[in-house]
This record gives sequence, structure tokens and C-alpha cells, in this order.
Amino acid sequence: MGRKFFVGGNWKCNGTSEEVKKIVSTLNAGEVPSQDVVEVVVSPPFVFLQLVKSSLRPEFHVAAQNCWVKKGGAFTGEVSAEMLVNLGIPWVILGHSERRLILNESNEFVGDKVAYALSKGLKVIACVGETLEQRESGSTMEVVAAQTKAIADKVSNWADVVLAYEPVWAIGTGKVASPAQAQEVHSELRKWLQANTSPEVAATTRIIYGGSVSGANCKELAAKPDVDGFLVGGASLKPEFIDIIKAAE
Ligand code: PGA
Repeated sequence: MGRKFFVGGNWKCNGTSEEVKKIVSTLNAGEVPSQDVVEVVVSPPFVFLQLVKSSLRPEFHVAAQNCWVKKGGAFTGEVSAEMLVNLGIPWVILGHSERRLILNESNEFVGDKVAYALSKGLKVIACVGETLEQRESGSTMEVVAAQTKAIADKVSNWADVVLAYEPVWAIGTGKVASPAQAQEVHSELRKWLQANTSPEVAATTRIIYGGSVSGANCKELAAKPDVDGFLVGGASLKPEFIDIIKAAE
């Protein structure tokens, strides 16, 4: 079975309700390939999840940008996986580099979050990626393998996981990884999955690329055999997100 192309839009901490409504109407009007060809998931801030879910075309889905590592309770400011499930939010992004680096989320913490979210029935976009310093010192694969291992240590069923390779130096910088750079890491990650999970998981898990993806560079990246889609930040707030959804064609 082929891997269905996956395009995620990570809106991060952006938007007013007026802006969100505008983005939704652009998405709703966009001519895009059918859901048999591409799976589209957008991730607004928590407070807009319901608004987006209730107004977005039904073949597009929503993701939260984070959730708590265990059952909810006395954790001020957190949102639990149970709450997302209760509201019918199917997806969650976990391990984004902004949370790893700014909020100090460790590999183990992210692994625990992924496992807990999956156990509650959420689907997970799990992010990994190296910093510029790590790339320049030649440790890219070591870093992304350790991040992936912390997830694999706690997760046996990968059917509801999409792995997002997002080099930190490419996020929000306009400095996109070249198609060859993305393909190299994606292919190494797939080999890692093959050796450390199962050949089936390696063959079926979508590995998507994130970091300055745009309407202009998406086709070339999508042409690489191990690039199964994108996680898009800045451009997901703009009409060009429709062009990125079409990159699968
Ligand atoms: P960017 O962000 O597309 O703005 O670089 C990607 C991401 O952080 O998911």
C-alpha cells in the first residue's frame, strides 16, 4: 500500500478569530486533489479549534498543537488528550522544536506524550529535527535517531503516527532544506525504522518535511521518494497553502 501524501498546517500562536475565519474560507474555496490522494490537517491554537473544526470543509481535519503528558487534573495551563478526544479533535502535533527548545521538552517527555496521546485514540504528528550547530558538527542522524528512539521505546503501533522531519535551522528562516538534504534524512529515518521497529512500520509510516516549505519549493521536495508530505508553518496562513496541498499531484 502506498503512503498517502499528508499536508499539515501549523498555525502556531497566530491569528484572531477574524483572521481564522478568513483562512478557513480560503481553505474551503480551494480546489485541491481528493482525500484519496492527500490528507490535509490544520492546526490552529487551542482556542480556535472548535471554530475551525465546525466551519472547515469536512475532508480537512484539525490538530491541536500540544497536549499534556498524562491524564488531566491539577496541571494549570495544560490541555489533556482526554479533552481533545472529548471534543472530537482527531490529531495532535507533539515534539515541535519550539516546544523542545523553548519549553525544554526532552526526548523522553515527548516520547511519553506521544505514547499517552496514542493510547487515548489521538493521531500524532511527531516532530524531530536537528539544530544548525548539530548539523554542522555532523550529528544530524544521531540527533534525529535519538528523538525517534525515545518515541519508539514507548510506542509499538505506528499506524496513527506521522513523523515530521523539521530541521530547526529551516523553520521560519526562509532557508529550506534542499530536496537532496530532506531526502537523505528521510531515507535514513526510514532505515532506522526498518532496523528498530519493523519493515512494515518503515514502509508505511509517512515521513513529512517541515521548514520554510512554500508554494515555490514544494513540488521539488514532494518529488523525492521518501518525502511523504509537509508540515507547513508560515505559508499555512496564506493562500499558497492550497498550492502546497496540490504538490502531491
Ligand atoms: P515554517 O514552520 O514553515 O514557518 O518554517 C514549519 C514548522 O515549524 O512546522
